[in-house]
This record gives sequence, C-alpha cells and structure tokens, in this order.
Amino acid sequence: MNFHIITLFPESFDSYLRESIIGKAIKAKKIKIYFYNPRDYVTGKYRKVWPDGNISKIVDDRPFGGGPGMIIRAEPVIKAVEKALKKANAKNGAKVQIVNFVPSGKKFTTSYAKATAKKYTDLVLICGRYEGIDARIDKVFKTQKLSIGDYVLTGGELPAMVVIDSVSRQIKGVLGKMESLEEERVSSSEFYTRPEVLEYKGKKYKVPPVLLSGDHKKIEEWKKNKK
Ligand code: SAM
Repeated sequence: MNFHIITLFPESFDSYLRESIIGKAIKAKKIKIYFYNPRDYVTGKYRKVWPDGNISKIVDDRPFGGGPGMIIRAEPVIKAVEKALKKANAKNGAKVQIVNFVPSGKKFTTSYAKATAKKYTDLVLICGRYEGIDARIDKVFKTQKLSIGDYVLTGGELPAMVVIDSVSRQIKGVLGKMESLEEERVSSSEFYTRPEVLEYKGKKYKVPPVLLSGDHKKIEEWKKNKK
C-alpha cells in the first residue's frame, strides 16, 4: 500500500512513522509513504520574494461570504494531488482512492480499513488546516470525505496517521504472527500481567481469579463479557 500525504506539515509525521510496527513496515517496504506539500505549488501573486531573498508562499485566503479563519486555496492542493496521482498511476494496476479529511465525513472504522486495504493500492490523504480547504477540490476530484470521530482537530495530520496505522495493520506481513492472531481472537478491554497482587498506597489489587484458573473455556467467556 502506498500512502500519498498532502500536508502543509510533513515533519509532524516523522516520529510516529519511525516507531514500532509502522516503522518496521516502512523498512520492510510493506507500505510506502510519500509527502506533497501544497506550499511547493504556490505561484503568482501568492508567491512573494522579499528584498532579503526570503520567499513567502501563501496557501490560504479569506473566505467568501465572511467568517472567521482562513481557507486553504484549491489550486496548490489540486497541483499536489495531481503530483500524487501521477506517482500512483505510474504503476500498472494502481487502484487509487482520494481521501479528504473533514470532521463531518463518513466515520472511519476497522471494517472501512479492512475494505480499503483489500480494494486499493494507493491512498491519497488530504490533510486540511485552518478553517479547511476550498470545497471545489471535491468537485475537481472524486474524493471520499472521511472523519475519524465526532470532534474537531486542528488539522488532518492526526487523522492521516490514524488511517495509515489502521489500514497498515490489515496488510499481510505488517503485523507479526502473534499480533495477527491477537487481532482475530476474542479480545477484551481488560488485561493483566505480573504481579498477581499489586500493592499501591497500602491497598492490594488482585488479578481476577478466573485468569489464574487455567480453565480456557471460562477465560474466553470472561474475555467476551469484558469486551
Ligand atoms: N471548520 C471546519 C469544520 O467545522 O468542518 C474544521 C476545520 S479543522 C480546524 C481543520 C482540519 O482538520 C479539517 O479541514 C480536517 O482536515 C481536519 N480535521 C479536524 N477534525 C477532524 C476529524 N474529526 N476527522 C477528520 N479530519 C478532521
């Protein structure tokens, strides 16, 4: 799976993508990550060269109809997406989905992640910032508007990381044998490890006796009830 991330803040992905399962998947080339920064595609009056040689590349502008906050202009985002599509479609048999992250979009779930991992070879993930991106990007491209939950974040970078993590877990060879097994098994939301009795501030906290019983049928039942 190739993830093409359209973002004004590519560095914000650095540490997360380097660590643990996702870091290993990138090293093993099970997944590939590409970045496209709309700022690199700013032209015309929005690109200013100052007398000291500094260059401002302005990606946003005021909203038509008024309102607080700035809107990311469509043009630099369209150019960044075009670049991503060119990269994705350079391969034979590429199946691409373009995702536009918006808080009001279709809710992202594990079953969505599973279906996506099966159906597509490339995901283009568009991360908004400020008040959002000019809505015409959804008319220029066939996009899937996606939300990771009923709350408003500062940008689409965290949603992109959530999608990369969750979709990658569905790709063969990304999870180790034990972790894959765990994903398929009856799991619970309560886990315990050593010691059997934890002492904290004079109080004793015990592991539920059923987990120490060795009775696998009862243990599975207990886990089901704790889901
Ligand atoms: N004014 C926008 C609205 O109410 O829809 C919120 C913009 S938010 C501050 C900036 C960006 O963060 C959005 O364009 C989107 O890309 C991303 N974002 C925020 N919350 C999100 C969520 N729950 N799911 C997906 N993306 C989200």
